[in-house]
Amino acid sequence: MAEQPIPATAREWHLKARPNGWPLETDVELLEAPVRRPEPGEILVRNAFLSVDPYMRGRMNDVKSYVAPYQLDRPMEGGAVGYVVASAAEGFAVGDAVLHGQGWREYATVQAAHAIKVDPAHAPLSYFLGVLGMPGLTAYAGLVAVARIKEGDKVFVSGAAGAVGSLVGQIARLKGASRVVGSAGSAAKVAKLVDDYGFDAAFNYKDGPVAEQLDKAAPEGIDIYFDNVGGDHLEAAIGALGLHGRAVICGAIAQYNDTEAPAGPRNLAQLIGKRLRLEGLLVNDHAALQPQFTAEVAGWLKDGSLHYDETAVDGIEHMMDAFLGLMHGENTGKMVVRLAS
Ligand code: NAP
Repeated sequence: MAEQPIPATAREWHLKARPNGWPLETDVELLEAPVRRPEPGEILVRNAFLSVDPYMRGRMNDVKSYVAPYQLDRPMEGGAVGYVVASAAEGFAVGDAVLHGQGWREYATVQAAHAIKVDPAHAPLSYFLGVLGMPGLTAYAGLVAVARIKEGDKVFVSGAAGAVGSLVGQIARLKGASRVVGSAGSAAKVAKLVDDYGFDAAFNYKDGPVAEQLDKAAPEGIDIYFDNVGGDHLEAAIGALGLHGRAVICGAIAQYNDTEAPAGPRNLAQLIGKRLRLEGLLVNDHAALQPQFTAEVAGWLKDGSLHYDETAVDGIEHMMDAFLGLMHGENTGKMVVRLAS
């Protein structure tokens, strides 16, 4: 394919100030910046879908973590999929679809070594940011490698209508869970968990204390807790876990915008008597599972045993709205930003 027309400038989001608590519109800015043509070993990508993910809130802080903080007055980063419009790298041609880490912008000049070719004939392009991408692998690796799920396990997942959580519940069932319970933040999401994703029970954590609602939804207790939320959810799950229970500590979204240290869980001592295993999960450690994950999850998508939802926001100018919407629960399934083609 011939080289595509390349604009002189394109839009990208910069971090202007580090948020204290909930991010403000004034903490970020959408700027017009020159589009740099690729040098040897690089490709130029026109992004088609940009990912917004909860971990991005952590990167807005100036704290040492497993991933470097965003730099002030520099473009922000994140998952993106798009099409190569110019290539100076062997093995990449104009028109190829690629997944890479330079989101939050319309055009990205990317080291080819940091881009992965994806096949749009295999699945819609945006799926590589969700069910077939990082959130999908997180759900799969958390259940398979961290919780070591086995037939008959009773599983509880919080954030259950989101990108990771909706897959956790369904993959748990496909792996033989005897009971799957989820919590989410609206009546519509709770109905979806049961009706579309096949959960046995679900509750709205805003309707009352999590411990009481979990007790009703899982009267015989649970064997695995997949934690996306932290705080009162983790405390309730420790109470509900039986002997040799396992908790996958994946995220604590309830606390990402807090300015004070959280009060709980207050019942960590139960870990001892119950011989519980709480284990942190970092998806980056599980790249070796990628081929097994892709084969199994793509198969479930194809035969219809896995349902996958997206919430798409149109236009790069609404990317910060999409990010804040994600933190407020406006998404069902994976939140993505769709750019004009
Ligand atoms: P997501 O669940 O699609 O979106 C975030 C959801 O969090 C919202 O839709 C909202 O749903 C819920 N939420 C927001 N505030 C909440 C609160 N105070 N209490 C309970 N729920 C709240 O996001 P995701 O990408 O799938 O990520 C889910 C979790 O996994 C996050 O904690 C994320 O940081 C973590 N994660 C970890 C790894 C890893 O490697 N460890 C990788 C990916 C993701 P409701 O309407 O239900 O409130």
